Amino acid sequence: MDNSRFRTRAVHAGHEVDPGTGAHAVPIYQTSTFGYGDADRGERLFAGKEQGYFYSRLGNPTVRAFEEKLASLEGTEDAVAFASGMGALSALSLTLLEPGNEVAFLGPLYGGSEGFFRHILAKFGVTVWEAENLQDLQARLTPRVRMVYVETPTNPTLRISDLREVARLAHRVGALAVADNTFSTPYLTRPAEHGVDMVLHSATKYLGGHGDAIGGVVTGHADLMAEIRVTGLRHVGASLGPQEAYLFLRGMKTLPLRMDAHCEGALQVARHFAQHPAIRRVFYPGLPDHEGHEVAARQMAQFGGMVSFDLRGGYDSAKIFLDHLQLFVQAVSLGDVESLSCHPASTTHQLLGAETLARQGVTPGLARLSVGIEDPADLIEDLERALEHVEAVAR
Ligand SMILES: *Cc1c(COP(=O)(O)O)cnc(C)c1O
Repeated sequence: MDNSRFRTRAVHAGHEVDPGTGAHAVPIYQTSTFGYGDADRGERLFAGKEQGYFYSRLGNPTVRAFEEKLASLEGTEDAVAFASGMGALSALSLTLLEPGNEVAFLGPLYGGSEGFFRHILAKFGVTVWEAENLQDLQARLTPRVRMVYVETPTNPTLRISDLREVARLAHRVGALAVADNTFSTPYLTRPAEHGVDMVLHSATKYLGGHGDAIGGVVTGHADLMAEIRVTGLRHVGASLGPQEAYLFLRGMKTLPLRMDAHCEGALQVARHFAQHPAIRRVFYPGLPDHEGHEVAARQMAQFGGMVSFDLRGGYDSAKIFLDHLQLFVQAVSLGDVESLSCHPASTTHQLLGAETLARQGVTPGLARLSVGIEDPADLIEDLERALEHVEAVAR
């Protein structure tokens, strides 16, 4: 089973026909607690001397199937699921960091993640700093750094980090390399293959794929996962519910098919608008002029489903553009089968402040598109129409 190919594992990994009932789909074990029989067994379960389910905050069979499927797809030893991507990040951080530690990251990051690092971790004596690039990271890394954190591609400018280099630099000072793989999914990039120690996902996005559930997951070496399960899950408690786990299991079966469609649509959109007069710049790692194109071509199977446009005329243009899209629904989040659009500077990244936004290239004219699986020709027509409104006002 584990030797089978990605598409086969997407369908089969993590579950088999239920031995008790023959159920073909993974049952939703909608239960908070599990009768453990006798007092002695209760003692053994709580002490970790025997493996088994006893309380759904710490483990649930539907959630477990999701963890196993994700670990199989990422090629890692184990995984721990959480109620959201942010729940996963906070549990991971509270498990592994202590006062005096430093966290280094390559930005820009998802606004919520950067906010958690800067505003929450700082309160607990953890110093967080942003490296401008790999050279800067290398120059500033010391053994005080416990974690080097990257997203690839990043949100929303689709900057690419060379995962092999990040892992190598982190390991030189004894730090853990952690990658948020939400934008790529394991179908396009498997960071563990490049030496990354832990991979994090907002399952809310492509893993679920249908915009109907919030969840997160961390995956990596078994010993790290055991630590995160015991500390981060047990004591932080952002546990994934069985209904959501069921939806993620269902979504992941079609992950490769959906990603093929997302990537094809995004590439067509990026190419079509690369030279448009209303657009200053199209950000897409699949375009040869993208600064991360070569690294992306090496570490991604395809270039993903996210495209950003930096419109001439700043916020006024971005607003007209977004307000005139019909197929692209204006909403945060991404990775749904439906196309979505948003204005990062005023929504997801608003809290970061003007100075950080300017440095990270999250300009007032930047519009982010999550290209869905609709026919790319319809999406391109929709985008063309909205851009005509921008040009009509600019004239
Ligand atoms: C959405 C997102 C998160 C946060 O995940 P939630 O499930 O919303 O908590 C983290 N990282 C990235 C890259 C995201 O897109």
